[in-house]
Amino acid sequence: MRAIVELSEAAHTIRRRTNRQRLPPVRYNVLWKVPCMADHLTPEERSAQMRRVRSRDTKPEMRVRRVAHSLGTRFRLHRRDLPGTPDLVFPARRKIIQVHGCFWHRHEGCRSARMPTDRSDYWNAKLNRNVERDIANLLALKELSWDVLVVWECETGNLETLRRRLASFLLKPVSSNDQAVG
Ligand SMILES: [Zn+2]
Repeated sequence: MRAIVELSEAAHTIRRRTNRQRLPPVRYNVLWKVPCMADHLTPEERSAQMRRVRSRDTKPEMRVRRVAHSLGTRFRLHRRDLPGTPDLVFPARRKIIQVHGCFWHRHEGCRSARMPTDRSDYWNAKLNRNVERDIANLLALKELSWDVLVVWECETGNLETLRRRLASFLLKPVSSNDQAVG
């Protein structure tokens, strides 16, 4: 029963997102198929996954910001003058961190990125556009000599691991061809 309640909460979340993006509304009966998705999770596993997804959904970028802040680095958020409006921009280090949702940006091999079997053509087209855009933005940023780290939402769960990773990316010396100041 609990699994059913959680799936129905997940339905609300998905529908909210869908509406916001002015896509056709998700029908509830679609969600009854969730336990039968391609990855064949048991209802218990599925509900555990939904719980993880929901808690991560709200927080991944906030976690990255908090860790970056605790490392004493200064950054700006969502700079619109850069390709793709990157999530965290560290101008003095000429570095960028992008925090990607695993489903929306198709994290390869990640459980959270598995595709619903229902309307799979629609989802494939939509998510592939996101991935193409990500790649184009990444190339454009590299072209402008920005060093970019992509952090997936599933990699933000363990703060200590996240901290080590961000420290190694952010605190390593700026290379001589970077045009960093400060
Ligand atoms: Zn992931």
